[in-house]
Amino acid sequence: MRTIFDTEELDQIRELARKFAQERVAPGYLAREKAGRFDMELLREMGGLGLIAPELPEEFGGMGAEFLYSGVIIEEIARADFNFGYASLLASLNGQILRQFAAPEVARDWLPGLTAGEHMLAIALTEPKGGSDAANLGLRMERDGSHYIINGEKTSISANQIAKGVVTFARTGRPEDRAKGVSAVLIPLDLPGITTSKFDNCGQNSVGHGSIWFDNVRVPAEYLLGDEGKGFAQVMQGFDFSRSLIGMQCVGTARQSLDETWAYITERQAFGKPLAAFQGVTHQLADFDTRIEAARLMSMNALWLKDRGLPHTTEAAMTKWWPPLLAYEAIHACLLIHGHAGYSGDLPFQQRLRDVLGLQIGDGTAHIMKNIIARERAGRAVTAA
Ligand SMILES: Cc1cc2nc3c(=O)[nH]c(=O)nc-3n(C[C@H](O)[C@H](O)[C@H](O)COP(=O)(O)OP(=O)(O)OC[C@H]3O[C@@H](n4cnc5c(N)ncnc54)[C@H](O)[C@@H]3O)c2cc1C
Repeated sequence: MRTIFDTEELDQIRELARKFAQERVAPGYLAREKAGRFDMELLREMGGLGLIAPELPEEFGGMGAEFLYSGVIIEEIARADFNFGYASLLASLNGQILRQFAAPEVARDWLPGLTAGEHMLAIALTEPKGGSDAANLGLRMERDGSHYIINGEKTSISANQIAKGVVTFARTGRPEDRAKGVSAVLIPLDLPGITTSKFDNCGQNSVGHGSIWFDNVRVPAEYLLGDEGKGFAQVMQGFDFSRSLIGMQCVGTARQSLDETWAYITERQAFGKPLAAFQGVTHQLADFDTRIEAARLMSMNALWLKDRGLPHTTEAAMTKWWPPLLAYEAIHACLLIHGHAGYSGDLPFQQRLRDVLGLQIGDGTAHIMKNIIARERAGRAVTAA
């Protein structure tokens, strides 16, 4: 559906992304998930089309485009393969962090490869003792001359075995200083002392997800992102961007499922009529169609606000909790309307359902998003987190 945000230029990028997504990405979705394999060749193709982090400046291989462009791209990619959408999500989130906070030579070394699709970057905040209380982290990072030495474990990290580097939050100060003692650093994942594991998850297996252990890992000090001890406040602001993109990612997958199901009910017959003749079926779809469009507008609005430098923390938190839940419910309804075929591995609904479920947790749960909304509305003093 057309929206108030659409322009001719946005239409052009949407068309390009849709063609790439439907022709190149969609056909291998289920096979890649089954094999647990991310297609780096396809990523390079995407980069070659200018579809990775287009909001980065041209000197880094981007287009200097509006943030909304990335939203439209991830929506189209997620229509084809929810998990390939992580390529957009991680590149845009980490790309912005490096552009804003990396030393100029580090940004020059890492960003062109990111936009070209030659490599990926992961982001590591969560630790075994918990992800919601994000400031209470324990990974140690200590200065030793021209290096930092990193010790500890990050867990539940997306793309941890396919990324070339990881934006990592670690403690340089005292634990009692909580967020104030946290720094951010880019860690190349091929450094000595790093090991990883992959979880056996119920979805998102092509992109993968697991732990990273750091055993006396020496990182050059120029890989620090932002100021020492201020990484939490500075770098975490990037999450407002990724939350808005997650809204678009979930909406894309749900929209594709709805489109396929609208088509299916005009063909499939029951009791001598197409399923579309039964309001019990069409009203369900009409209901989800309406709400998915509302979630899409909300996500685009958050990106539009970001493009104008306007506050959008509340809007981003809303797009992080509602669209993932709504998409899950919409895909569930689409699966059921396809009957036994919907439950089979031949159709993508069961896979989409398991993939989209992960983002009810990843990047912060609905509880935490509602805490953020409450804090923005009622003030920090009256909310717990
Ligand atoms: C698919 C997926 C991808 C992920 N990718 C990444 C990644 O790339 N990088 C990364 O760093 N992490 C990643 N994560 C981890 C994710 O960010 C954490 O799982 C999440 O923040 C929750 O942390 P936790 O699992 O430790 O749950 P906990 O923090 O232990 O919370 C458990 C439950 O308690 C609830 N809860 C906790 N505190 C409160 C409170 N104050 N009020 C109300 N309820 C509360 C939570 O909402 C949750 O339901 C990913 C997770 C998944 C599933």
